[in-house]
Amino acid sequence: MLTLRQPRAVQARCLRWRAQSLRVGFVPTMGALHAGHLSLVRRARRHADRVVASIFVNPLQFGAGEDYRRYPRTFARDRRMLAAEGVDLLFHPQVRDLYPAGEATRVRVIGLDEPLCGRSRPGHFTGVATVVMKLLGIVQPDVLWLGQKDAQQAALLERMVGDLFLPIEVRRAPIVRDTDGLALSSRNAYLSPEERRTALSLARGLEQARRLLAAGERAASKLKAAVRGEWRRSPGLREDYVEVVDPWNLEPVRRVEGPVLLAVAAYVGRTRLIDNLTWPPSRRRTSRKRARS
Ligand code: AMP
Repeated sequence: MLTLRQPRAVQARCLRWRAQSLRVGFVPTMGALHAGHLSLVRRARRHADRVVASIFVNPLQFGAGEDYRRYPRTFARDRRMLAAEGVDLLFHPQVRDLYPAGEATRVRVIGLDEPLCGRSRPGHFTGVATVVMKLLGIVQPDVLWLGQKDAQQAALLERMVGDLFLPIEVRRAPIVRDTDGLALSSRNAYLSPEERRTALSLARGLEQARRLLAAGERAASKLKAAVRGEWRRSPGLREDYVEVVDPWNLEPVRRVEGPVLLAVAAYVGRTRLIDNLTWPPSRRRTSRKRARS
């Protein structure tokens, strides 16, 4: 596996692949890899001739007082994992490589950045869209792989790629969960054993809502109440939001009459966690992996 730091070197390599008609799949990450990231890499591998992964903890998407400094950085381990998965090129830029002095461009996907996580993380999605746009300009992939775990991020990046007429196919992979249901996340590493038990309430709340949906309940208020009812059993969990929205424009939905996204975020101690479910369920079941993050 080739590991490169310089954007221009990565771009030259990827352009050469394209000139050879090789299909390039791309998986952007912030590292501290777990089985969720690897599921994206495996899908990319199956659908492309060359796989590029990036590891970059993007300062632009962290707000003041957020966890940029303490975000887990496990580069040597990540690199071994990606090599073992058959990644062809690992792009590992430093902050000054992507944000050199004088760079002045920001990408904002208006509207989709406001609800859900946008409310408690102002500016976050401009950071995400800007860095992903830079990465896409460098790698110029045929396919961009994103996780359903970050459903708002995926919706926003799909919209950006469409709005900017980028010749890139965006594919989403389902949420990978631990055996007990907790969605894998690099931030799970922050949780103490007790907090981790508390964090299970996120998935349990969604499971309650899923049961109601399967039984025919269509009122968003009832679904949200089911999540909150489950959460009340865990005093260590503090709600950020529980929302039922249209998965395309992320606007609130009162009755479930088409596809919906039930998105949740909560604080467990100092750690902010997110999870979601889509309805109707996709034909592929959400995968559960044993790997602990
Ligand atoms: P991150 O390193 O957190 O920026 O995530 C990189 C990519 O991995 C994003 O597209 C995420 O949505 C995806 N991802 C993170 N956790 C999971 C998970 N548990 N299941 C599926 N995809 C995930």
